[in-house]
Amino acid sequence: MTVRVRYAPSPTGPLHIGGARSALFDFLYARAKGGKFIVRVEDTDLERSSRESEDHILEALQWLGITWDEGVDVGGEYGPYRQTERLSIYQSFTQRLLEQGNAYYCYCSEEELEAERQGLIAQGETPRYLGKCRCLSEEQIQNHIAQGRNPVVRFRVPENQAIKINDLVRGEVVFDSNGVGDFVIVKSDGIPTYNFAVVIDDSTMQITHVIRGEEHLSNTPRQVLIYQALGLAEPSFGHVSLILGKDRSKMSKRHGSTSVLHYRDKGYLPEAIVNFIALLGWAPTGEEEFFSMSELISVFDLDRVAKSPAVFDMDKLNYINGHYIRKSSPETIAKLAIPHLQEAGFLPDIITTEGFQWLTNMAAAIQEHLAYVAQVVEFAGLFFGEEVTIEDEEARSVLQGEHVHTVIDLFLTKLAGVEVLTPESVKIILKSIGKELKLGGKHVFMPVRVAITGQVHGPELDNIIPLLGKQNVQNRIRLAMAQLVDGQ
Ligand code: GLU
Repeated sequence: MTVRVRYAPSPTGPLHIGGARSALFDFLYARAKGGKFIVRVEDTDLERSSRESEDHILEALQWLGITWDEGVDVGGEYGPYRQTERLSIYQSFTQRLLEQGNAYYCYCSEEELEAERQGLIAQGETPRYLGKCRCLSEEQIQNHIAQGRNPVVRFRVPENQAIKINDLVRGEVVFDSNGVGDFVIVKSDGIPTYNFAVVIDDSTMQITHVIRGEEHLSNTPRQVLIYQALGLAEPSFGHVSLILGKDRSKMSKRHGSTSVLHYRDKGYLPEAIVNFIALLGWAPTGEEEFFSMSELISVFDLDRVAKSPAVFDMDKLNYINGHYIRKSSPETIAKLAIPHLQEAGFLPDIITTEGFQWLTNMAAAIQEHLAYVAQVVEFAGLFFGEEVTIEDEEARSVLQGEHVHTVIDLFLTKLAGVEVLTPESVKIILKSIGKELKLGGKHVFMPVRVAITGQVHGPELDNIIPLLGKQNVQNRIRLAMAQLVDGQ
């Protein structure tokens, strides 16, 4: 049997980290088993669904490198893959359930249902539908129709039944059907509800494994009852635990953005996001923490998916992203940096070939310091403009050191004599100053660094100086030394 796994987003907003994790686990499982991966759009919530959200979700999946074999855009033999285009399919199954007596029309108004709800809550009971319309007489039905009531279709939940789910992640989970209550499967506008459409789709699309977030575990008994009533084979279910923030409350905006494309826009790399979310709930066997998509495909399985909640740790994401940034080519980082530098006003709209080469060298100089590419703006002061601000007391005291003026003067003289500034020529200059003045390296490069950058820490001087160019370096040094005099 071919494994067929689907990711079934509701297009009611952007793709969030939780959704991306479900999609990734679905995808990895399908690929690991040599099966098919399907993306189905669950857009039956007409008010909240939009094409814009659908496009956003698909774009985010593509960016992550999650590819699908069947779906709204690529088609496939089990289509259509958008639920609002499958209404006639659901209708025939609704008809069957009505004919078999597994479903019935319910004419209760919103107000009546609300009153019932409140009554149950007041008695300390779980709010649920108590079955008022289960056995209406023909006369009652005619009365309701005469009143212009538009019915919904409800599923008749059998009483006293234990509904068992052999969950691939959580083991056996048993629900009592008495706690479920007859639930709506088709709304009064003829649109099926999630719990109904999902069963019909998973069955008709021959889905073998439903792997999704734990928040859907409580829906599963309803879905199982529908499979049973229609005599359809159930897929295997696996419910992956929730994602919590570091403070152990449910992951939300407070813990950092949850939208996947937000991370793209800040300069996180897709490989890093995939690696990070793979570890949200799944654990490898060994110590290794970095995994490419193809490595994940070869090692992923549900038996290493934890029952306990996963914790979203921003520091860990930054650590993982930093790793992938360091592994990227400077060209890649330069390309990603351009929009950030443009937005902050450091770069013009059009970048020349020469300008791009310069940016690539800049990227090479700072890439090991970046957790995500948008941080490039924080380094921009080092490379753009001729301003130097002495950052703090530590930096100031470096410039007040004993041999500073001699070092700086000699540096300026040697700089003036160099034809082509390269990291190598800078290295040679700095070394020769140390030799001539009989000073340790630190006493040479620290004053030069602070005079050029205003900071005691930062990217390699050898790289910064050629990027700035002679003129800029000279201007910066004069400015820094003048500030020192003013400040004294
Ligand atoms: N459409 C549901 C959601 O976005 C997915 C349900 C499922 O995977 O069964 O939460």
